Amino acid sequence: MQKQQTIIEESLKALMEDDTFLPDLQAQTREQAFKSLVALLSTPNHIHKSFLRITLENGRIVRIPSFRIQHSDTVGPYKGGIRFHESVNEEEVANLAKLMTLKNALHELPFGGGKGGVVINPKEYSVKELNLICKQYVQYFNDILGPDKDIPAPDVGTGEREMDWMMGEYKSTHPGKPYRNSFTGKSILNGGSLGRREATGKGVYYTFRYMMHNFVQENKKWLRDSENRFAHTALDHADKKLKMAVQGFGNLGSVAALEAFQCNYLQNKIVAVSDHNVMLYNDDGLDIQGLVKFTKDNDGDLPTDKSQLEEHEIKAEIKERDDLLELDVDVLLLAALEDQIHEDNMEDIKARIIIEGANGPITEGADKYLADKGVLIVPDILANAGGVIVSYYEWVQGREAQFMTEDEVYKRLFDKMKTTMDTILPQFFGDPFPLRQNSYIHSVKKLSTIMYRQGKLY
Ligand code: NAD
Repeated sequence: MQKQQTIIEESLKALMEDDTFLPDLQAQTREQAFKSLVALLSTPNHIHKSFLRITLENGRIVRIPSFRIQHSDTVGPYKGGIRFHESVNEEEVANLAKLMTLKNALHELPFGGGKGGVVINPKEYSVKELNLICKQYVQYFNDILGPDKDIPAPDVGTGEREMDWMMGEYKSTHPGKPYRNSFTGKSILNGGSLGRREATGKGVYYTFRYMMHNFVQENKKWLRDSENRFAHTALDHADKKLKMAVQGFGNLGSVAALEAFQCNYLQNKIVAVSDHNVMLYNDDGLDIQGLVKFTKDNDGDLPTDKSQLEEHEIKAEIKERDDLLELDVDVLLLAALEDQIHEDNMEDIKARIIIEGANGPITEGADKYLADKGVLIVPDILANAGGVIVSYYEWVQGREAQFMTEDEVYKRLFDKMKTTMDTILPQFFGDPFPLRQNSYIHSVKKLSTIMYRQGKLY
């Protein structure tokens, strides 16, 4: 996550040197303003911390560290998920809050950035205890949350059940006040949006498909003449059958893999998928539909032995989980965890295109190494915003008490992602920066301009 800070600073440096950007700021004032921007974008507005006091079912009282970090409300109310994980810590939550500010700005959502965290392994708590934790979280942070202040959503370890509970508690503690859009990622029955669950996976694949099918096909001549190294990587893959490997087969990975499997625009062949247990491999292509069905019936897990594969007529070899990253494929889709490609395995990566579904799956050093080699990395900030985009639609629907059909939600989701891509891709293929840096420059530019216009740089 140090990577984020470095890119913010590099983006501001590039913008400072561009005298068409904020031209009214000259000489010393300009330097001061950009120093201020580094400080403003690097640190959160508020860090809220509490120890939730929970009486467990066995009668023992525990104190659970929990956070809500509000990074920036420059563009609108704070928005970002709540993570339940034992490794949650203040620095991680603050970094994720910062990423939300930048992601929301990039995709033109009327939100700032925030993030929450509770230091627990949710699997170690009963349903009743988890319900208590969710209620207490809302009680402890009661004054800072709300539809126009800070709107949480699910993240790792939380889902629609937790959002329903939290919204329920918010409603009880704010009688007579609007509550439906206080949380997003809720169940449909409680005002959630159709398509929210599939939105991130669909958006991740759409980003890739739009770049390779629409943009690259329509701009072949220009890209061929360009000196940009990533343009050549894209062109090399434009008309061929793409061998793909997908790391992580949960909510995001399975939806994105199914989109790739069913795509009529590109010729994809998914030869490998993995989860926390295994890698499944088939050089002729895996039956992703069959695997999605299997995981639905098996608590989210892929088959782990030959008998399960035979019983469900799935043709695949079982291989070492972590070898997936080093397979000889064209495209790697990372949909599991952070820091998966790092200094120790970066030299063994063979894929020329990497899509970041997960947040931060490539470390700073590996990111630079791969970009220098011309590997086209579609970064998290650009690719995995589908969830927060549909959260925005959920928030709007909650405000208006009018609900969209699933098709409307997907249409709006893809339109929004297309708008972002149409802004970013021509710049990206036209200048030397990697796609991540380009996306950050765009976000930082927008945030800086708004702060300047709001008079925050004096
Ligand atoms: P999930 O828990 O549903 O799925 C995670 C998957 O990764 C599971 O299949 C798990 O078995 C697998 N996995 C865990 N460790 C692995 C390993 N070492 N190797 C291979 N597979 C492994 O989570 P998700 O919602 O699909 O999210 C995946 C990632 O994407 C997370 O990092 C999350 O923060 C990020 N993300 C998710 C969303 C969303 O809306 N779901 C939005 C933005 C970012």
